[in-house]
Amino acid sequence: MTRIFVGVGWPYANGPFHMGHLAGAYLPADIFARFHRLLGDEVLMVSGSDMHGTPTAYAAEKEGVSPRVIAERYHAINKAGLEKLGLNYDLFTHTHTTNHERTVQELFLRLLQNGYITRASEDNAYCPKDRRFLPDRYLNGRCPFCGNESARGDECDQCGRVLDPKQLIEPRCSLCGTPAEFRPTEHFYLRLDKMQGTLAHFLADKNYWRGNVLAATQNFLQAGLKPRAITRDMTWGIPIPLDGYPTKRIYVWFEAVVGYLSAAKEWAIRRGEPEAWHRFWDPEAPVRQYYFVGKDNIYFHTLLWPGILISAGGFQRPYDVPANEWMQIEGRKISKSRSTDLDAFIPALLAHYPPDVIRFYAAALAPQNHDTQLNWDEFSRLSEEVLSNQYGNLVQRVLVFARENFSGKIPNPPSGFHPEAGDGIGARIRAAHEEITGHFEAVRLKEGFERTLTEVREGNRWFQEARPWQASDAARAQTVYEALWLLKAAAMWLSPVLPFSSEQVWRMMGFDQGPGAGSWAGALTPPPAGQTLGEVRPLFPRAEAPPPAPGTPPPTVPVPAPSGFVPFAIQAATVQTISPHPSADKLYVIELNVGGPKPRTVVAGLRPFYKEEELLGRRVAVLANLEPRTIRKMTSQGMVLAADTGSRVEVLSYPEAVSPGTFVSAGAIDSPIISYSVFESNPMVVGTVTESRDGRLVVDLGDRTIETSGNWAVGSRIVVQLDGPGGSQGQVIHFDSGELLLPGADLPAGTRVR
Ligand SMILES: [Zn+2]
Ligand SMILES: [Zn+2]
Repeated sequence: MTRIFVGVGWPYANGPFHMGHLAGAYLPADIFARFHRLLGDEVLMVSGSDMHGTPTAYAAEKEGVSPRVIAERYHAINKAGLEKLGLNYDLFTHTHTTNHERTVQELFLRLLQNGYITRASEDNAYCPKDRRFLPDRYLNGRCPFCGNESARGDECDQCGRVLDPKQLIEPRCSLCGTPAEFRPTEHFYLRLDKMQGTLAHFLADKNYWRGNVLAATQNFLQAGLKPRAITRDMTWGIPIPLDGYPTKRIYVWFEAVVGYLSAAKEWAIRRGEPEAWHRFWDPEAPVRQYYFVGKDNIYFHTLLWPGILISAGGFQRPYDVPANEWMQIEGRKISKSRSTDLDAFIPALLAHYPPDVIRFYAAALAPQNHDTQLNWDEFSRLSEEVLSNQYGNLVQRVLVFARENFSGKIPNPPSGFHPEAGDGIGARIRAAHEEITGHFEAVRLKEGFERTLTEVREGNRWFQEARPWQASDAARAQTVYEALWLLKAAAMWLSPVLPFSSEQVWRMMGFDQGPGAGSWAGALTPPPAGQTLGEVRPLFPRAEAPPPAPGTPPPTVPVPAPSGFVPFAIQAATVQTISPHPSADKLYVIELNVGGPKPRTVVAGLRPFYKEEELLGRRVAVLANLEPRTIRKMTSQGMVLAADTGSRVEVLSYPEAVSPGTFVSAGAIDSPIISYSVFESNPMVVGTVTESRDGRLVVDLGDRTIETSGNWAVGSRIVVQLDGPGGSQGQVIHFDSGELLLPGADLPAGTRVR
């Protein structure tokens, strides 16, 4: 028995994760960990949300909330997604814990003491307008290597290179666009230059690493390692454990990699054996550490992290970093700022597909040695062809035939059947088993998976050719028995990739649990003759909802709303600037004052209805939690709400007593981001209060009346959110102060708001 530590890349808690993350890191890690658990190895797989750092701070600043709100929101969303997909972490934690903070600070001090962290003053990018330093993605500019116009201060998304802010061409503030200046500021530096020799030695025996990983690492090494700043001018993150640095924090990458160690400690504490983490971390422990990350994180896992561990002393070192390339869409990274990419995000995928179908595609298209392209047509075609027509079909026909011909039981093999025979099904299964095991052990996960699918395909052909329905009794029993053995083995081999359906197959065969509870070598044992088969059901029933076709509106992100109402984060705003859209004659580009230092930019189709001067300075209501949409090349961060009769459009307003930036309810600031189709699922309409007594209202909606709660006077014009199109339940939209969202005075009741 071996001990296996599986570290999985830490997702930034600034958005939901998508197919690229799943295929590139999370699923390979889970397949590998499941395989080793089946082998009987002691496995510890950990990861968590990266709560700190500029991506989260920057997203929070854009949204006008505290970084903690954003981080906790996406940690919850991502954790739920991981669980639904069956990604079996021993611990999925996050970096905003005292355990993590203490571990990071201890390591920081140890390196400081050992002379591997030193301080220096250096010029950093600074925005004279915002009067602040611009760490990492607060700085934008052109990449000097590939020309990407929106490279960030820390790295280029397009070519994957780690960048120094000074290398950016025409650097500017990401918040306001002002050209950046460089001003001196004191920081702590990790002396990677002093680790050059040690790291070269560490890498000397890593010839078993993937070629791309080794080559990228050697390139960094040959270029010469340089001291790297590991603190930042910001206040979100882990404080420096020394006096005198209240406005500086430890750099997110230094602390995120330490998360592998702190998560192991947390896992040990949680299981009531606080010292158990040593089993995976002591330098002499018989353990192999694997780190599953995307290619943009190679440097941090093959150099920075081993450098930290070696320089601190007393720790296990990475054994392998099987980093993957990227899964892309149309040759670029999947991005949440493109509405056409939203299908690729896990919450949307889980709304459409069972977890095994998502896992199947991510495994089949894993970008193991080169970038792969996510393609929805191929997604449908592959999953139908392989899962339904090959695997599902084999399971179905063999089990149904067995039930009908052998009284619902696994038949006895004929007397001449020898599982150990050198030329029968046993030999074939043993050969496949050996090959698949070898692939998985060497982290050639895709090859192991494909080898299994070959057996499934061959099994179908062989069962068809054997024609058990025409055969003699003995031949029929033999064919069915052999086919059942193949099914049992295939479900075992597939269980690291497709755990849910593998369990179903074993249950249909009459086992009381799935292969995941057993041992890998169980594939080599023939099925127990006489065992009663379970109920046979289609393994991959046709999807009820058709899969999303390219170009159709994105599927809705499922939003749990306790009352059945989708939470709308409606915010009071005033029109700060307004200008015609440069290339669309019905659109305005509007900057809204929402109370904070940054305006919210929206694109609104109001030009046919309002002159610019009629809207300038006007109080309007904006739906702030609508997924940003790009409309004619301009990104709209929300939607100005207006009542629309079909011929007339009037923007909604609110009383003067409400200040810009106020949300309709204090909790609305925390609402999940929703798509346009979710917005449409709970329509808002204009209504008139016709009765008001003891907190109950009767509201005229034009074609009908509804009852709801509230204290507004008879005759009040209100906006009501319904529980669905044509819904019978409604809630009045108002601010916590009791002030109403105001529709125009003479709009007919029942007018839709959009
Ligand atoms: Zn670049
Ligand atoms: Zn600025």
